[in-house]
Amino acid sequence: MIFFVQHERPLLTAFCVRVSSFLSLGGRSQSAVFNTDALVRVGLQSGKEKEERRGRRGSSGGDDTGQEDREEERATNPSSIIMTTAADTYDVIVIGAGISGLSAAKLLKSHGLNPVVLEARDRVGGRTFTVQNKESKWVDLGGAYVGPTQNRILRLAREYDVKTYKVNEKENLVHYVNGKSYPFKGSFPPFWNPLVLLDFNNLWRTMDQMGKEIPREAPWRAPHAEEWDKMSMQQLFEKICWTRTVRRFATLFINVNVTSEPHEVSALWFLWYVKQCGGTMRIFSTTNGGQERKFVGGSGQISQCMAKELGDRVKLQSAVYSIDQTGELVAVETLSKHIYKAKYVIIATPPGLNLKMHFNPELPPLRNQLIHRVPMGSVIKCMVYYKENFWRKKGYCGSMVIEEEGAPIGLTLDDTKPDGTVPAIMGFILARKCRKLCDLTKEERLKRICEIYSKVLCSEEALHPVHYEEKNWCEEEYSGGCYTAYFPPGILTQFGRVLREPVGRLYFAGTETASEWSGYMEGAVQAGERAAREVMCVMGKIPQSQIWQSEPPCEEVPAFPFITTFWERNLPSVKGLIRFSGASALLCALSVAGIVAYKKGLCPRCR
Ligand SMILES: Cc1cc2nc3c(=O)[nH]c(=O)nc-3n(C[C@H](O)[C@H](O)[C@H](O)COP(=O)(O)OP(=O)(O)OC[C@H]3O[C@@H](n4cnc5c(N)ncnc54)[C@H](O)[C@@H]3O)c2cc1C
Repeated sequence: MIFFVQHERPLLTAFCVRVSSFLSLGGRSQSAVFNTDALVRVGLQSGKEKEERRGRRGSSGGDDTGQEDREEERATNPSSIIMTTAADTYDVIVIGAGISGLSAAKLLKSHGLNPVVLEARDRVGGRTFTVQNKESKWVDLGGAYVGPTQNRILRLAREYDVKTYKVNEKENLVHYVNGKSYPFKGSFPPFWNPLVLLDFNNLWRTMDQMGKEIPREAPWRAPHAEEWDKMSMQQLFEKICWTRTVRRFATLFINVNVTSEPHEVSALWFLWYVKQCGGTMRIFSTTNGGQERKFVGGSGQISQCMAKELGDRVKLQSAVYSIDQTGELVAVETLSKHIYKAKYVIIATPPGLNLKMHFNPELPPLRNQLIHRVPMGSVIKCMVYYKENFWRKKGYCGSMVIEEEGAPIGLTLDDTKPDGTVPAIMGFILARKCRKLCDLTKEERLKRICEIYSKVLCSEEALHPVHYEEKNWCEEEYSGGCYTAYFPPGILTQFGRVLREPVGRLYFAGTETASEWSGYMEGAVQAGERAAREVMCVMGKIPQSQIWQSEPPCEEVPAFPFITTFWERNLPSVKGLIRFSGASALLCALSVAGIVAYKKGLCPRCR
């Protein structure tokens, strides 16, 4: 059954010409009359006839073989034909209704353009996902935390009147290691063993110093890019960390920040990642850092508000599987066989998900290989609800840094609502542990989580949750894992430069293509707006100098600098101390030997 609505004459004409062209290719009538019988007849041609036609096309050297193949496919499968009407033709097609795609479309619309957003899922928001129910009121099962210097996402929140609140960090945090709980204040747990302290201090200082060498926009241009990219973070830790305690904590640092393992990620990529978030303190801290706040009512509201503004331009359950740039307009086809056409396309998905799409012409070699080489991290976000926030009564704020191989959770934060209701603890099952615990039932995971909370908080109450929510992002077909894509060793220097390089009329957004807070909601906004401006620039609407824009600081969420102390800047590393001690010991020994020799009249000059 073919349904056709005539909206715009040029389109109708174009379509008729195409119909007539494929009918004539089969040696049939020249008539442009759209007739199912004719299509069925074409569809019934033998494979041999098809081969012959392919041969003829090949010898004529035509460029649009792919286009004809598509037409042929439609001829063989009449049910696949859905006409492009005027209503399906837009200025820009945005693929993905996550924060990035929606911010791109929002900006395009505000400049008088006509975008459409095609979203595979039956909801907007992508890697952010706010669920509402009576037990939790609302819960963010995906991206949630925002903080100082994340000015773009905070600007959107302000525009939609979505308020933020501070994550509770009034009481002590707790560091659980070697089976014991150590309460502490601040971003990182303190260590009292002097060697560990030196090693710990040196780790952060070295990572931040190395980060300073790496350009945010082009990490592959760092002076030591090749050398650092060949190394995994595991290898870097082996070089800079001397104590097992610090290496173990460094592993947790990678697990928490990029939901992967130190041996999986390139040192260049991870050092860049931390740098573009503002350094080791900014990325890991709650107060004054990336986890300082949450949105009242959930982060999903940001996408919902943008989608509301875009109205019926947002098409849900529209998974894109083919992008054809061979025609005058780019044709984008969804799994539901709907075709949209536009002058430009912005792809706002994680790069690896482009493997699900068919490109005509094929992607350039580097882009084609890049999308095979950027896996997503592994995480299950777990929210345990309690009758009371008993941890606060015990002097704990709810933040736990848990270092125990058998513990499912690596990091927790208090998730009680800002008004004190719905006491809860948010915890992440990260990287290797996520892979290990995927096959457990939800109930088994909850049991193990409560057991470790009970140990860390020294509380029986932790064993009695009243409700549990979790989301395993590894099973999400249209995310492929979370929070973000990571670069294994050797990839960033070889393929990084094509990450946001346009391919014909295709432009690339998505948090992975950002240069500030990439991997976060902030990065998603930066990338979406940058891609939208790239398209506006090529349309002649804005000059090139306006594509990259900085964002004024958000006054309500001020960023304070992290001041390092004299000691943090100048204490030696363990290696430095050993060298210094060795040199001092040698100097002392030489001095003593000199004195003895002098006294005994053994020095030649003393004779
Ligand atoms: C558990 C978890 C915790 C996180 N914590 C934080 C945090 O605290 N703070 C923070 O800032 N960030 C956090 N993040 C990361 C943050 O959520 C993401 O960086 C951000 O939402 C990415 O937005 P995006 O638009 O770039 O990509 P996405 O949200 O992934 O959007 C891409 C969209 O494209 C769609 N899509 C994919 N393939 C197709 C296709 N073929 N056709 C059409 N549509 C398609 C997807 O369905 C999706 O909606 C977290 C993420 C997770 C999962």
